[in-house]
Amino acid sequence: MTGYARDYEPFPHDLAEQAACRGLGEVMHGVRAPTRKGGTNWSQARAICASCPITAECLAHAIAQNENEGMWGGKTPTERAVDTRTCPECGTQFANRRLTTCSPECAHESRKRQRTA
Ligand code: SF4
Ligand SMILES: [Zn+2]
Repeated sequence: MTGYARDYEPFPHDLAEQAACRGLGEVMHGVRAPTRKGGTNWSQARAICASCPITAECLAHAIAQNENEGMWGGKTPTERAVDTRTCPECGTQFANRRLTTCSPECAHESRKRQRTA
């Protein structure tokens, strides 16, 4: 089984202590309360993430680990897929829709490459 947040394994102890979903793993990552249209009702999980102080760490973890189930960092699997980019320079996965590379260094390398191409 992958490290669902309910196990708190992905996070260092001091972060896990702060997770708003402590003890609520079923809500976050297990129970699929269906919507009327047959989709997944994420509203409760989303509300819990909204009150969590470690959403950034949680989302970064989920993207790095390619977690494809459950709500992580306030985002559903579909939302994480949309947000995830693979850096064309170094292959690092990162979450920023407005950037095309993961870092200023890689952006610089990418521009250099385009100039010499
Ligand atoms: S962001 Fe959401 S899923 Fe992640 S630790 Fe916080 S409450 Fe849990
Ligand atoms: Zn990069």
